[in-house]
Amino acid sequence: MTTHAPRTAQSVTLPASLDEAVAALSAMPAAVPVAGGTDLMAAVNKGQLRPAGLVGLGRISEIRGWRYQDGHALLGAGLTHARMGRPDFAALIPALAASARAAGPPQIRNAGTLGGNIASSAPTGDSLPVLAALEADLVIAGPGGARREIPVSHLLAGREMLGPAELIGFVRVPLLHAPQVFLKATGRTGPGRATASVAVVLDPARRGVRCAVGAIAPMPLRPLEAERWIGSLIDWDGERGLEGEALTAFGEYVAAACIPDPAPAPEGQEQQVLSPAVLHLRRTVAALARRALGRALS
Ligand SMILES: Cc1cc2nc3c(=O)[nH]c(=O)nc-3n(C[C@H](O)[C@H](O)[C@H](O)COP(=O)(O)OP(=O)(O)OC[C@H]3O[C@@H](n4cnc5c(N)ncnc54)[C@H](O)[C@@H]3O)c2cc1C
Repeated sequence: MTTHAPRTAQSVTLPASLDEAVAALSAMPAAVPVAGGTDLMAAVNKGQLRPAGLVGLGRISEIRGWRYQDGHALLGAGLTHARMGRPDFAALIPALAASARAAGPPQIRNAGTLGGNIASSAPTGDSLPVLAALEADLVIAGPGGARREIPVSHLLAGREMLGPAELIGFVRVPLLHAPQVFLKATGRTGPGRATASVAVVLDPARRGVRCAVGAIAPMPLRPLEAERWIGSLIDWDGERGLEGEALTAFGEYVAAACIPDPAPAPEGQEQQVLSPAVLHLRRTVAALARRALGRALS
């Protein structure tokens, strides 16, 4: 179906399937896909973007739900934050549900989608550190019914990009059946963009802790050494608890890995120090990581 929306775009196409959407984008390379429109229409309204055409994804039912697949959940890119925040989804992927509940005010959560959050790749995207910690993959739909899979982290790091007329169709997330936590600091009360966020995921099968820090860099950061160190301290066959000092040390390890001290100055030059604002951010990351791990292990 094609209608005309002269002020924003020459044409709006509303396909009913992923392949139809890809075909519409192939037929009109200057058109852009729009899901909930919370990011895209904000850019249009600010005059930052004037797309020649829009391909709406809102009528594609195949990407609005999820299904099980080989120990994974295959999440449709059109899942809204509101849907992911519900209890049945939270029982499946608790950290992603927590990030969805934290993503903006209710109007935004009702319209904004998982695929839009990933494609926008804003540093403050709340789903992104969770997907990085879960080591999720994207299923990308391309022309001619093609499907390819890439790690989410590759897209976020710019190692692999969406090609012409390609769409994020699904997100493949491993089901770990273990505690996972997402925490976010906003610097204000009520809904707001993250100043820092932390996702902690336990992976008992691999005897590992996976952690990702969001909002403090262009993409989520993984403190791999801190993950390995804390994973080696946990009694995976026993209580899985840790002393308070170990949790604190983990928080500081994560924070120092993500916000390192400046390199020592060459002889004769003044030593750089972290500014008070950066030190505050580092303390925030340390507190979030400590609390997130404490909750995951409690
Ligand atoms: C007031 C306000 C508050 C917000 N607060 C938060 C917050 O707290 N946390 C947070 O994470 N985000 C927040 N956001 C950002 C936004 O709501 C989310 O990023 C949302 O998930 C975007 O999804 P969407 O469906 O609206 O994307 P759209 O706006 O429809 O699209 C965004 C981009 O993704 C592309 N795109 C969409 N779907 C696909 C797909 N399947 N394949 C390929 N490309 C695609 C579009 O072409 C566009 O470039 C906020 C936004 C607003 C306006």
